[in-house]
Amino acid sequence: MKKISIIGSTGSIGVNTLNVARHLGYPVKALAAHSNIDLLEQQAKEFQPELIAVFDKSKAMELRKRLNGIEIVAGMDGLLAVSSLPSADMVISSMTGTLGLVPTLAAIQSGKDVGLANKEALVSGGALVMELVRQTGVRLIPIDSEHSAIFQCLQGQKHEAIDRLILTASGGPFKSYSMDQLKTVTVEQALQHPTWKMGPKVTIDCSTLMNKGLEVIEAYWLFSIPITKIDVVIHPQSIVHSMVEFIDQSSLAQLGVTDMRIPIQYALTYPDRQPGMLQRFDWTKHQQLQFYPPDREKFRCLDLAYQSIRAGESLPGYMNAANEILVSRYLKKEIGWTDIGYKLEDLMQKHELSKIQTIQDVLAIDTLARHEASLI
Ligand code: MG
Repeated sequence: MKKISIIGSTGSIGVNTLNVARHLGYPVKALAAHSNIDLLEQQAKEFQPELIAVFDKSKAMELRKRLNGIEIVAGMDGLLAVSSLPSADMVISSMTGTLGLVPTLAAIQSGKDVGLANKEALVSGGALVMELVRQTGVRLIPIDSEHSAIFQCLQGQKHEAIDRLILTASGGPFKSYSMDQLKTVTVEQALQHPTWKMGPKVTIDCSTLMNKGLEVIEAYWLFSIPITKIDVVIHPQSIVHSMVEFIDQSSLAQLGVTDMRIPIQYALTYPDRQPGMLQRFDWTKHQQLQFYPPDREKFRCLDLAYQSIRAGESLPGYMNAANEILVSRYLKKEIGWTDIGYKLEDLMQKHELSKIQTIQDVLAIDTLARHEASLI
């Protein structure tokens, strides 16, 4: 039975991971979260971890007063203590943002298998993460539903047999909108994802297809596949979670309900499978599966992501951080939905590439992008 630690336990992946851990009876050794100490307190009482980290230092102090007998640490040092806790075998890395790279690398460095739900770690520091995975020999298991699907389809397959990876995208709420309609879409409309329930940032990214762009970059690093062999198709039903086409033109897909507990459970039990906690999928209720190409004119962000990985070096990390700021400005209603793509393209064109060799390089580019994206 694996013993797990969770970085980001109060977010949607973290909460679902605890649901799966409860179902499987897996011990939870450590929890880390940003500042939601009310939920952390509840989680601590149920799962009795050895160690809790709260990123926000004053909230950590407050939680210390509420919980007896559990060590509580604070700040980034606290997160690092959780990711390297000796008694855990596996770390679920589900903290959002580029800063999630730091505890992810620490977990790999301390020889833990990592269930990865943080996209930014690979988008901005993919070369660093994958090099460390090679050096330490740990398992890096994707939790993002598309990458879990591909990972599952690749079990028992040779790398040279892969012809291409096909990531499916729901297309978001605006897939059939005209360019004129897109200019006036509201935040409330953009937050209505047709099939998955997620946090606001990723939901907006789904509406612009940037989420899929980031996933293309994630797939590039995770599966060591040239960018020319990673394609995206719109699949509004979100039943096929992604596919692999092999050199003999046979394709394998992973299908099922849109529930993150499935990829989370697979990551936790890998390479085994255990009985799940969901109802069986009713195939007779799903009589239509549609697939069509993305509209790259209307959804500029997808191509920007491809461009960023072709240029490499600092551009993917720069794009990711700048996008995060533009999305938050959109959520605050400072800019329009179409501005996200236009402003991002502008910023990327002006960006001077630099080499990414250390965590500090990643974080410096992240800071620069945030600054520039807040001014444009
Ligand atoms: Mg996904």
